[in-house]
Amino acid sequence: MLKVGLYWFTNDLRVDDNAALIRAAGEVDTLICLFCLDKPNGSPGLRYPGKLSPARHQFLLQSLVDLDCDLQNLGQHLVVRNQEPLDAIAELITVHNVSHLFSSTHVGSHEKRIWNTLQTRYTMLNFTQLHSHTLFQPEQLPFAIDGLPDSFSKFRRLIEKPGIEILAPQDKPLSLPSPCSAIDNDWQQNTYSDSPALFMGGASAGERHIKQYFNRDLASSYKQTRNGLDGMDYSTKFSPWLANGSVSVRRVVQQLQQYEARAGANDSTYWILFELFWREYFQWYAHKFGSALFRFSGIGERAPTTSFYAERFRKWCAGNTPYPLINGFMHQLNHTGYLSNRGRQLVASCFVHELNLDWRHGASYFEQQLIDYDVASNWGNWQYLAGVGADPRGHRRFDLQKQGQIYDPDNQFVKRWAGDQPLQPLDSVDAADWPI
Ligand SMILES: Cc1cc2nc3c(=O)[nH]c(=O)nc-3n(C[C@H](O)[C@H](O)[C@H](O)COP(=O)(O)OP(=O)(O)OC[C@H]3O[C@@H](n4cnc5c(N)ncnc54)[C@H](O)[C@@H]3O)c2cc1C
Repeated sequence: MLKVGLYWFTNDLRVDDNAALIRAAGEVDTLICLFCLDKPNGSPGLRYPGKLSPARHQFLLQSLVDLDCDLQNLGQHLVVRNQEPLDAIAELITVHNVSHLFSSTHVGSHEKRIWNTLQTRYTMLNFTQLHSHTLFQPEQLPFAIDGLPDSFSKFRRLIEKPGIEILAPQDKPLSLPSPCSAIDNDWQQNTYSDSPALFMGGASAGERHIKQYFNRDLASSYKQTRNGLDGMDYSTKFSPWLANGSVSVRRVVQQLQQYEARAGANDSTYWILFELFWREYFQWYAHKFGSALFRFSGIGERAPTTSFYAERFRKWCAGNTPYPLINGFMHQLNHTGYLSNRGRQLVASCFVHELNLDWRHGASYFEQQLIDYDVASNWGNWQYLAGVGADPRGHRRFDLQKQGQIYDPDNQFVKRWAGDQPLQPLDSVDAADWPI
């Protein structure tokens, strides 16, 4: 009997170093490669109606075009559905007699629920799900996922012990099983604008960027420059391609190791790996805590005392607060879909500690805007800053004025991103609010 496979792409938009796709290549006779544009959301309950920002949407569409091109080179093509994955997959299983289902393991609780539902509903199918978003496989970790250390430092000490190795990435398959015929495709590649953006989506652009980064000597001074606020060179800018999986994190490490062999290893080259370990920590953290990633009280029991104030939230999103530096960051985020790590820390700290807002709304806004949105990194970092996550210190409140003096002493960033005008009071005052 013909073996019909369905490969569900999520945040693994590549053919390189993709273990589940390689498995599919060897196991089935025909294959459907599916991506669902009405993507499930990892943050139940707090969605903003605009869904993806134009920058994030464009980056995703470019990534899909590039994936389709890579699939065509292997004898396949991408089927894109504007549907909930569960509906799209169920329909394809029935109509095309799918016998094998493949996917990369996704850390999002919603995606996990979909996979579990499919397994329960279609017991006769053959299911394969493999990790491709992390440096390590679960069986390589020196602890069970439920036993993930409660701080990053403990985690790092454990994974840096001798004997735990980051495995070399796997090459792409030489070819893929042929596509099933006559499949409805909602794919209209001309629906995205090719306007110049800071980042171009897709594996080709990502690989080009990483190669160019390591062809210069930037990695050798990364530790000194990484807290910059503006420009392409102060940090690696690998995150957009890592987040949607256009580029494999193990491929990045391979290139880092090659750079070290060529140009020499130092504190800075190590620090790139150190930051990738943060990414890794948040991935396993999200696997461990599941939907608690989105809970107001985070991974603890105590909910913060913050609340939701619509006006403050609106002003923060628009970059219209009494804090020029924060306004500059928010304008930059809204314009480009990207924000430096320092910028993210400061706007999140302001959100929680100055504006007293419920951190989940800030995380949801980031989810909508960031072209490098990654469910684990975003929600894990927000929890950390809100004091409901993996921070042994409890919470992080930054002195915004001091931070401005350190990182933007000449006000250049604030001026460039029009952070200082017009400055608005935090809350508007209505005469009706005053007691008579
Ligand atoms: C509130 C908040 C929300 C964030 N949301 C996201 C997100 O949705 N997606 C995302 O990829 N990163 C997120 N980060 C982490 C970090 O800010 C970005 O990864 C980084 O700024 C991306 O730029 P870069 O690639 O030049 O980073 P570099 O400084 O060059 O770091 C190299 C790589 O290490 C990883 N990394 C670095 N710092 C962190 C960190 N703190 N946590 C996890 N991974 C890290 C990223 O993969 C990054 O590409 C968030 C941080 C904060 C404080």
